[in-house]
Amino acid sequence: MKENLFVVVHYDEIALKGKNRFFFEKKLKNNISFALKGHFKKLEHKHDKMYLELNNQEDSFLIGEKLKNIPGIAYFAFARACPLELFHIKQKTLEIMEERNFSTFRVSARRSNKKFPHSSQEINEEIGALIVSKMQKKVKLKGADEEIFIEIGSNKAFIYPRKTQGVGGLPVGSSGKVLSSLSGGIDSPVASFMAMKRGLKVVFVHIFNKSINEVQTISKVENLTKKLSEFQGGAKLYIVPFEEIQKVIIATIPSEVRMIIYRRFMFRILNNIALREKAKGFVTGDSLGQVASQTLENLNCIHKIANFPVLSPLIGMNKNEIIEIARKIGTFEESILPYGDCCSFMVARHPETKGKIEKIERFEELIENVESLIDDCVEKAEIRWY
Ligand code: ATP
Ligand code: MG
Repeated sequence: MKENLFVVVHYDEIALKGKNRFFFEKKLKNNISFALKGHFKKLEHKHDKMYLELNNQEDSFLIGEKLKNIPGIAYFAFARACPLELFHIKQKTLEIMEERNFSTFRVSARRSNKKFPHSSQEINEEIGALIVSKMQKKVKLKGADEEIFIEIGSNKAFIYPRKTQGVGGLPVGSSGKVLSSLSGGIDSPVASFMAMKRGLKVVFVHIFNKSINEVQTISKVENLTKKLSEFQGGAKLYIVPFEEIQKVIIATIPSEVRMIIYRRFMFRILNNIALREKAKGFVTGDSLGQVASQTLENLNCIHKIANFPVLSPLIGMNKNEIIEIARKIGTFEESILPYGDCCSFMVARHPETKGKIEKIERFEELIENVESLIDDCVEKAEIRWY
């Protein structure tokens, strides 16, 4: 008979959250249950860890891939379990070590359950001595070939030779909900991921002009949303038609300041959707000085129209740092496919880089019925779920 496999889940910063800890733990537990539906027998939460009992060992690759994407998990490990007695712990550890190829090793025991009669040090010594005598291997505390971890739980011991790093951060949903302004580029998908990692549930909004953008822009944005949905267990995407607004802007506004005004209209759209979604913030992929719309002066003009805080987690990052994360989270390849962004259409060769809010507002006064333009395009938005 095959023995049951367990996963020990260590979480990240939740332990620091004092009274709110229960709330964070519940969120993480729900997120794990949702992601692994049908693949586990039991998910227990004891002391400061979660223990997952799997249905069968064959699922472990898939489960590992899913756990790697769940914010809030610092690391996890596939473990074998045994009864809480030193004799059984020794047997099981030896069994696991005999399957492995190494010459030096160390044992790292931890007691989540302090009632266990042996200290961590005693466990380390007893088991170390056993492996030395039965397998003729050497203990090496720093830089050993193998480190075997023993976790003393409340009614079982969990033994594992390897840990896998998780995303870290906070469980999605524990910090609230935001709208992410998602283009088809490299930056905004990375910014969305960073928001999720800080516990935000992200709803995606893409602004699209069907008369100037190619259809493949939509499939790009869809694929990016799909990919990002893996980090929060699903996603909602608004595709908002921008052609009416863009026509008016092009007809009324000089090209030098169009970019600023496009983006202010995007934020008016976001303000409107935020009320429908009960979202309390916005996320953008802005990085200071990267393009003309991202100077401090222009960001000032753009953000002034937003009714909620604008979070730009990439603001101080270099492009190569952003790309590194894009590769890690699997959005880079999709992001570099060619596409046209409505934002860059009909803007000046030398756009304004030091926008002044009074001047921008004066230009915008030339546009009539702003409210109904915004209402109209949000009404017509297409909503997709992943
Ligand atoms: P990205 O790589 O994310 O496209 P970028 O460096 O190309 O960013 P801009 O094109 O100036 O920069 O866009 C800045 C931010 O504005 C983007 O990161 C995104 O948050 C938002 N944005 C731009 N275009 C759109 C769009 N069509 N729909 C929604 N948001 C957009
Ligand atoms: Mg862009």
